[in-house]
Amino acid sequence: MAEKLLKEGSEVLVVDNYFTGSKKNLTHLLSNPNLELMRHDVTFPLYVETNQIYNLACPASPVHYQHDPVQTTKTIVHGAINMLGLAKRTGAHILQASTSEVYGDPEVHPQSESYWGRVNPIGVRSCYDEGKRCAETLFFDYKRQHNLDVKVVRIFNTYGPRMSPNDGRVVSNFIVQALLNKNITIYGDGQQTRSFCFVDDLIDAMVKMMNSEQGFAGPVNIGNPSEFTMLQLAEIVLKLSGSKSKISYLPLPADDPKQRQPNIQLAKDKLNWQPKVNLEDGLKETIKYFKKLLAS
Ligand code: UDP
Ligand code: UDP
Repeated sequence: MAEKLLKEGSEVLVVDNYFTGSKKNLTHLLSNPNLELMRHDVTFPLYVETNQIYNLACPASPVHYQHDPVQTTKTIVHGAINMLGLAKRTGAHILQASTSEVYGDPEVHPQSESYWGRVNPIGVRSCYDEGKRCAETLFFDYKRQHNLDVKVVRIFNTYGPRMSPNDGRVVSNFIVQALLNKNITIYGDGQQTRSFCFVDDLIDAMVKMMNSEQGFAGPVNIGNPSEFTMLQLAEIVLKLSGSKSKISYLPLPADDPKQRQPNIQLAKDKLNWQPKVNLEDGLKETIKYFKKLLAS
């Protein structure tokens, strides 16, 4: 995101507490005078000057967001309040990175924005799911109550270069396991589905959403509608990496959604956006990145 905004000529202030992010991902940009880094946690107030805010703060991998679930809810909810307060004071446009998790374990397939979801309010994923739902509420209340120009995108599973090898989500796990010839860990029977979007496509969509017509708040699904089972994903990763890894089956985590696929008609209509990178091409890029990372 920082790379793209700098390329477009914006001045960028990156605010991160580096809980899951890495400063190394920004080293190639540090000499750019239009970039500033600030170590800060969004659960605390932030007084800066800005005209656009992308609120992306929060670990998104189940392993990381369940590590300290109370802090996860605080990051999402207190973080949203502080960023909305900042937007209110500065008059900035503000975009919220929401999530397909607001649909929970959906009984409607594929998921459209009009579907209200099926979320367990008291489970291990709830800190994230309900936190993100509450953040959406806050965004729309600040719009109604304070007339803020808010934008909400619901991000479906995304992957790509610059992920951490310890991220814990499925694409990076499978690739790292394949490259190290370790067992590929499938949770459950591997028949659950996800739809994977390459990171560059997501970034394009978020910037388009930020610059969309005044008053258009969404929420808008952003994702790649090509749907795969986890078993299919494992097989593609094994093929593309030429790995000798075997598949091993581990227990399915609680409340793991069985299926997930975005309906992206609204993004097509309102943002003139659709993903360009298919799974194989995106995986090739990501495998190349992890190969280099593991070699160093
Ligand atoms: N806030 C912030 N930066 C600002 C303005 C506000 O971090 O530039 C925080 C502030 O701590 C406040 C929150 O955002 O608690 C919500 O602000 P708002 O103005 O909506 O609420 P109020 O200050 O009236 O409680
Ligand atoms: N998964 C898996 N093996 C792994 C990591 C995840 O089979 O090593 C499964 C997980 O149970 C889920 C899917 O892959 O059904 C996607 O998981 P991820 O953590 O990437 O994201 P989620 O969409 O569940 O938030």
